[in-house]
Amino acid sequence: MSPENIDTLVIGGGQAGLATSAHLTQHGVAHLVLERARIAERWRSERWDSLVANGPAWHDRFPSQLFEDIAPDAFPGKERIASYFETFAKKINAPIRCGVEVTALHPLPNGGFRAETSSGVIEAARVVVATGPFQKPLIPDLVPVTESLTQLHSNAYKNPDQLPKGAVLVVGAGSSGAQIAEELQRAGRQVYLSIGPHDRPPRRYRGQDFVWWLGKLGKWDARAKEPGTEHITIAVSGAYGGQTMDFRRLAAQGVVLLGRANGFADGAMVLNEDLAHNIAQGDANYLSVLDEADAYATAHALDLPTDPEARQFAPLPGCVTDPVLSLNLHNHEITSIIWATGFAMDFGWIKADAFDEKGRPVHSEGVSTVPGLYFVGLPWLSCRGSAFIWGAWRDAERLAGIIAARAPVDA
Ligand SMILES: Cc1cc2nc3c(=O)[nH]c(=O)nc-3n(C[C@H](O)[C@H](O)[C@H](O)COP(=O)(O)OP(=O)(O)OC[C@H]3O[C@@H](n4cnc5c(N)ncnc54)[C@H](O)[C@@H]3O)c2cc1C
Repeated sequence: MSPENIDTLVIGGGQAGLATSAHLTQHGVAHLVLERARIAERWRSERWDSLVANGPAWHDRFPSQLFEDIAPDAFPGKERIASYFETFAKKINAPIRCGVEVTALHPLPNGGFRAETSSGVIEAARVVVATGPFQKPLIPDLVPVTESLTQLHSNAYKNPDQLPKGAVLVVGAGSSGAQIAEELQRAGRQVYLSIGPHDRPPRRYRGQDFVWWLGKLGKWDARAKEPGTEHITIAVSGAYGGQTMDFRRLAAQGVVLLGRANGFADGAMVLNEDLAHNIAQGDANYLSVLDEADAYATAHALDLPTDPEARQFAPLPGCVTDPVLSLNLHNHEITSIIWATGFAMDFGWIKADAFDEKGRPVHSEGVSTVPGLYFVGLPWLSCRGSAFIWGAWRDAERLAGIIAARAPVDA
């Protein structure tokens, strides 16, 4: 049987794939989107039940579609986000096939690609890979797997009832780890939270959300992380109406803060002596956003209320001034570890010379070094905003323009 042919094949039916489809349609480029499961599958099955967007509804969306049933300053839940993309796909009449996985992608000798899928072979002149910024959960090889200890990555955490009775160690205090730790603590669990280097911008300042400030300060458009900040995560939250991620508050609620986990010996997690430093660095980041916001407000004569309380910190809790450096899991009745330790990319199925030695795509703002191959939705693809909903939209718009200039356009 001869393979099906299409000009442009988009792989992945999350926000990045749908945004690409919308823009390809606008340019009249014949294309097909393949999604191995359902539209926005990761929002449905790889996030915890109570997750809400980290940005308010007015911000975390495509420019052409509002969250009509949600107040602009509220934070939509993950199911609502999935249904938003489902509605969007219908609205643009996206040529999407769900339940079809691309298992291998091969470049063809004379240009173009051959995609092996779970339902046959497709050949395409161009391919846009939109399989997600966060593909393969990373768990450091620290703690041996035993029956008496439940270990989960944050992408498999659903809710507190999923875990056996007992205390929980959450490793990693970016947005996922910090939010999961707070949820578990509020559910009555004793929680230990291992905190590495992090940024923690204020949720709101002088009446404006931090996403608004980041826009005004040009930070969403930053083209690369500043040198030395590559491994710094960001702790923000839209949960409980949206609050600044304040580790002093978590400690006051009963969470025991710990330094970065760096080993495991004799049943105990070994923690770095870096907790106070990491908290201080997070505070400095927080204050720097306030300072930059104030400078911007002054320079642009913005009529915004002042917010002196935002600069007041509670004293450091005892767990920071006198940190635990070795945490025996049994003695502290810890029965679960949640690893909120990030993700890696997983492009092993793309059989093209398009990756560096760490398996990361080699590209210029999404245009691969392999002709006809494109990536969208990856962190820092063109700027800081690239992996976020509206950032993927912008990159997709630009890439679709590039593709349209090279592709035959439907009559
Ligand atoms: C916990 C968490 C919270 C987040 N919160 C926000 C937020 O509030 N606001 C925001 O803007 N961003 C947020 N993000 C970042 C980003 O918006 C999401 O990661 C989003 O899911 C990325 O969309 P995507 O379309 O690029 O990738 P994905 O959503 O990962 O979609 C990729 C799709 O490709 C499919 N796929 C993968 N491989 C194949 C294959 N071989 N063949 C066919 N299909 C395949 C998958 O099934 C999936 O549906 C969050 C990320 C995480 C992890």
